[in-house]
Amino acid sequence: MIRYELECADGDRFEAWFRNSADYDDQAAKGLLMCPHCGVAKVGKAVMAPAVLRGAGKEREARAALQALAAKSREHIAKNYAYVGDKFAEEVRAMTEGEAEERLIWGEAKPDDAKALIEEGAPVAPIPPGFAPPKPDQVN
Ligand SMILES: [Zn+2]
Repeated sequence: MIRYELECADGDRFEAWFRNSADYDDQAAKGLLMCPHCGVAKVGKAVMAPAVLRGAGKEREARAALQALAAKSREHIAKNYAYVGDKFAEEVRAMTEGEAEERLIWGEAKPDDAKALIEEGAPVAPIPPGFAPPKPDQVN
């Protein structure tokens, strides 16, 4: 048995097994090969190089999507969250204890403080690298 990666005229890829390469040639010549995705009978052996390019394109797409998401996040945080600098843990505690009015804030916390806040069940989350806006000069 021999396995080929095939591609239809519409660009769908699928695998098919043949007794041998002559079997494939025979079926292809008779037009017996059909794309299982769209039913197109125009099917040929897939060229491998475009698969690599396609993979790279997907990766580029994924990277671009992530960058767009990061930009959106930076904009959203800059617009809606008050920057509190290194007073983040303090501010969150004041809010969860009812000593300060609740508001949306972002800032820095030492790893230990961040861990403690999460363990206390405070509604905080780490901002992934690249998702935080530039730090404003002024602390609110
Ligand atoms: Zn197809």
